[in-house]
Amino acid sequence: MREIIFVTGNPHKVKEATDIMSPLGIKIEQNDCGYPELQEDTLEAIAGFGARWASNKLNCEVMVDDSGIFIDSLSGFPGPYSAYVARTIGNERILKLLEGETNRSASLKCAIGYCHPGEEPVVFSGKVEGKIAEYIRGKLGFGYDPIFEVGGSTFGEMADEEKNRLSHRYRALAEFARWLKEPIKKIENE
Ligand code: IMP
Repeated sequence: MREIIFVTGNPHKVKEATDIMSPLGIKIEQNDCGYPELQEDTLEAIAGFGARWASNKLNCEVMVDDSGIFIDSLSGFPGPYSAYVARTIGNERILKLLEGETNRSASLKCAIGYCHPGEEPVVFSGKVEGKIAEYIRGKLGFGYDPIFEVGGSTFGEMADEEKNRLSHRYRALAEFARWLKEPIKKIENE
C-alpha cells in the first residue's frame, strides 16, 4: 500500500483523510511537525508553500491540507483566514454577523498540497457548496461543520461517511488519489 505522510496537527483531518484514502489504496501517516502558514489570499498558495516547507524539513514526500469557509454575502470572508476567525469570533458570532441576511450561500474549500523534497509542490482543490445555517446544529465533525448546511443537514449532523461522500476534502483527495495513480507516476516511483 502506498503510504503518504500527512503533516497536520488536526486529528479530524487525519481521520477523514484515512477514511477517504484507505479504500483507494493509500495509507495516511500523521506527522505534526507543523509548518509556517503564509498570509496569502488563496488556500492553494498556503498549501503549496506548506507542503514544500515540510517535505524539505522531513526529507520525504508529504501532503498538507489547508481549508476554509467562504461566505458569499461577506465577499468570501473568512476564506484563507478561517482558522483565525474560528479562534477569535467563532461560529456563534459568525451567525450574528449574518443575522437578517437572506443570502446565506457559502462554500467550504480544501487545498491539498503535495511535495517531494527539492521539487515543486502540486496542489489539488475541492469545493462543496452549501449555506450557513440559522443556528448551530449537530455535534459531529469539527470547525465550521455545525453551521455549514448541505441538502438540509449541517455537516455537524452528518455521520462521517455522509460528510466524506460529498465534502470539499473528499473532492480534493479524490483528485490527488487519481493523480497519484496516473501511470507516469508509477514509472517515476518504481
Ligand atoms: P485549517 O485548514 O486548519 O487552516 O482550517 C481553517 C479553519 O477551517 C479551522 O478553523 C478549521 O477548524 C476549519 N475547517 C477545516 N476543515 C473543515 C471541515 O472539514 N469542516 C469544517 N471546518 C473545517
